[in-house]
Amino acid sequence: EAMQHRLVAMETEAGEIRARLKVERTKALTDVLTGLSNREAYEERLQMEFERWKRYERPLALVVCDIDFFKRINDGYGHQAGDKVLRIIAKTLAKRLRETDFIARYGGEEFVILMPETSRDQSLLVAEGIREAIANCPFHFKEEKVAITMSFGVTEFITGDEPDAGFARGDKALYEAKEGGRNCCVVT
Ligand code: GH3
Ligand code: MG
Ligand code: MG
Repeated sequence: EAMQHRLVAMETEAGEIRARLKVERTKALTDVLTGLSNREAYEERLQMEFERWKRYERPLALVVCDIDFFKRINDGYGHQAGDKVLRIIAKTLAKRLRETDFIARYGGEEFVILMPETSRDQSLLVAEGIREAIANCPFHFKEEKVAITMSFGVTEFITGDEPDAGFARGDKALYEAKEGGRNCCVVT
């Protein structure tokens, strides 16, 4: 009987540890400010989607996007206003994506999206929709209406790519979108 009790106690404890580990793991993969996945989570998911892409040869699209002139928001209205904008934008991005898409805050005011089973052209349509939604989203600071826009680099994985090649290409396209006047998508 003593053994029985001991066993039950150990099982309970193991269950608690498992639950705690799960909470800690989620925390480690989540961006605190926006609640989106963070960069670590992106690296992990990328590895998984990349393996799947290689094996099944279904398209895998990648979008890198960044808020335009975000420094101005911080400088003009304060860091807290900037944080609020980041949270609203994160929510808008997440709302527009499908359950199977993956989005992470890559860093600062830059986000990365993975779209399995999605071609470059299809993901361009999604990115355009997001771009428009954000550009039309009314932001108010000190009772003043301010338009906030984002630029996008859109690509898909191609034969010969290593996991990081997709991001590098998307990031380069994003740079071109910035050079090209911002508030636009460049596909590569
Ligand atoms: P560009 O259109 O070329 O992207 O211009 P930008 O001003 O958006 O880019 P820049 O890289 O010059 O500035 C990014 C700013 O984003 C600077 C930094 O303070 C701000 N930023 C990054 N992370 C956070 C954050 O977590 N909260 C707030 N409030 N601001 C942040
Ligand atoms: Mg920016
Ligand atoms: Mg940036």
